[in-house]
Amino acid sequence: MQQDLNTISHESLEYTACPLCATDKPNQNKQFIFEPFRVVQCTACQLWYLSPRLREPEMLKAYASPDYFKGGGEFGYSQQQGSYLEQENALRLTFRKFIHQLKRRGMTGGHLLEVGCSYGFLLEEAAPLFDSLTGTDFDSDAVKRIKQLGFRAIQGGVEALPDCYDLILATGVIEHIYNPIQFVKQLRQHLSGWIVLATPPMNSFWLKLQGKNWPSFKIPEHVTYYDHHTLTELFRRCGATQTIRLAYPQAYPLGMIGEKLGFSIPASLAKYNLWLPATMFAVAARFNTPSDD
Ligand SMILES: [Zn+2]
Repeated sequence: MQQDLNTISHESLEYTACPLCATDKPNQNKQFIFEPFRVVQCTACQLWYLSPRLREPEMLKAYASPDYFKGGGEFGYSQQQGSYLEQENALRLTFRKFIHQLKRRGMTGGHLLEVGCSYGFLLEEAAPLFDSLTGTDFDSDAVKRIKQLGFRAIQGGVEALPDCYDLILATGVIEHIYNPIQFVKQLRQHLSGWIVLATPPMNSFWLKLQGKNWPSFKIPEHVTYYDHHTLTELFRRCGATQTIRLAYPQAYPLGMIGEKLGFSIPASLAKYNLWLPATMFAVAARFNTPSDD
């Protein structure tokens, strides 16, 4: 099901102004080129974003394909290295650590919504700290599994959320969102406590080391690339009254690290996990009252 990026038709592409501040002045001197796509930086607010990018309906079509979630993907650059289920152990460790950081900050309890919950590993790790848990995902298999685990599940995006939540959490989601301001404002209407977004940091030393091979350049799925400054600015533009920077250390199986860096790891060691800094970061935000805009 792989499709070479070079065969993508011109009609399925669009140039866009900055998705954060709407300025249409990308820096012409420093760009990451993945023909026919480019990751460019807004000269006004410093957000990095994909332009040209795939038109959103085309992207949603790819997300709707069952292969996408099995790690096959439709596009050449976006092959996931090892499926999500193979990383289960490392992901659970990562989520457990992150949830406990949220607990220390008094952000847990009540009703949790996880946007983009995939197979529910985070929900399972968080379950002891909340009264009720809901997950959303585009993948019907994931939604089925979430229900089997006893959580509430919503298939699709965040357009029609039924409830209000004490904590809304989305890890690895915001970089996929074409209109991040609309996305956060939509969530804000269903929020009584904190919203936490976690995403790969565009100012990471991994990017400086790896350049275009940085694994978080998932083209064409990742359409925005944040750092602490621009993610905080997103919340500020949506009316946040308080924001907090959070660390997000991630555990990875050694075998996967070796694969990404081009080393071969003995099979006996491949399953062990190593904590890596600066592969993700998070910002928490809260708002005074639910927005009506
Ligand atoms: Zn901008």
